[in-house]
Amino acid sequence: MKITDIRITPPLGRQNRNWVLLRIDTDEGLSGLGEWSAGASAGQFEGLKRRLIGQDPLNINRLFYDSQPDRGLWSMGGLGAGVEIALWDLMGKKLGVPMWQLLGGKLRDKIRIYCDCHAGAFWTAEDYARRWHKVRETGRLDPVYEPSAYVEAAKRVAAEGFTAIKFDVDVANPWKMDAYDRSVSRREHEHIITVLEKVREAIGPYVDLSVDLHGSFNLADALRICKDVEHLDLLWLEDPIRWEWGNVEAMRKICMQTETPICTGEIFYGAKLHRDLVESGACDMLEPDIPRSGGPIEIRRIAELAEMHYMSIAPHNMTSTITAIAAAHICSTIPNFLALEYHSHNIPLWSEMLTMGHPIQDGYIAVPDGPGLGVELDEEAIAKHLPEGQPLWR
Ligand SMILES: [Mg+2]
Repeated sequence: MKITDIRITPPLGRQNRNWVLLRIDTDEGLSGLGEWSAGASAGQFEGLKRRLIGQDPLNINRLFYDSQPDRGLWSMGGLGAGVEIALWDLMGKKLGVPMWQLLGGKLRDKIRIYCDCHAGAFWTAEDYARRWHKVRETGRLDPVYEPSAYVEAAKRVAAEGFTAIKFDVDVANPWKMDAYDRSVSRREHEHIITVLEKVREAIGPYVDLSVDLHGSFNLADALRICKDVEHLDLLWLEDPIRWEWGNVEAMRKICMQTETPICTGEIFYGAKLHRDLVESGACDMLEPDIPRSGGPIEIRRIAELAEMHYMSIAPHNMTSTITAIAAAHICSTIPNFLALEYHSHNIPLWSEMLTMGHPIQDGYIAVPDGPGLGVELDEEAIAKHLPEGQPLWR
């Protein structure tokens, strides 16, 4: 089998996080589905075509580890991981087996999903910036960040069957000195703790609760939050600081001083960049992003690294349903898997882009058993999001 073409969709619009789907065609009429980044350049796409057209798509290791400079998919980081997914889809279709089978077999039939509820209200980046502006102008907390808004969102999502949810608490508030302030004032601290206490009270003790700080605060104040939520028994607290900027030791200092489990890792690609973090005990679990941190090859290596240090992984995922399904296949083969992120509760296309309908039922994705990814695109549903006059594949 030979690769004859690689095609991508136009970005599917800001409301859909500008997802770009990718398709690898072959001389046997089979195609594999993956994902491309809207931020990638035309030059990168042409480079990818030059690398892959004419190659045998079934030798994924060769295409991944190609030793010639800048040729292996690994050298493209997360961009290459989105392409790697399409190769596994193709191989599964060619051999008539699901992707989980190609990865050595599944350990579970369904994947636990955690719902990212953002802050009290679902948001877009524009919305977030607008709310910061408004808060500074009025000096008042936006009602969407009141504890009651968080509680309402938590109850709604738990009622849908999710057994794990996550919230952001580093949000627009009137208690900052200015736009550069990374400290947490007593008033902001009190607000954060109150929000989380109310949410825990609303969902009860058995729905898992996580919190993301996005590295927004200084170490002392982030640590104070970690310690003051210990009684809430969080599943994890994510990114108390931005250690990735070069200070694993600072992250270790936080991790060693709190009982709240610390989770991190959504920014880096590949297992090697996670090594210092894990070996120095600077976190309690990892959240590699699929595909930014890797596809089937690198995510499983990261999971093995974590497993050697008795850590679970809870993969981060903000991409389209195609990549989420690939993530479900990968996670079904990982023993130390904890939960997979669902970041698109407020994006209707996410649940409409496959012919199977919404893949999440009662907080889980059933791992498909069809060949490859085992899913098909609902091209009609996707076509509604294309820019005027543009075809699905180009
Ligand atoms: Mg995060």
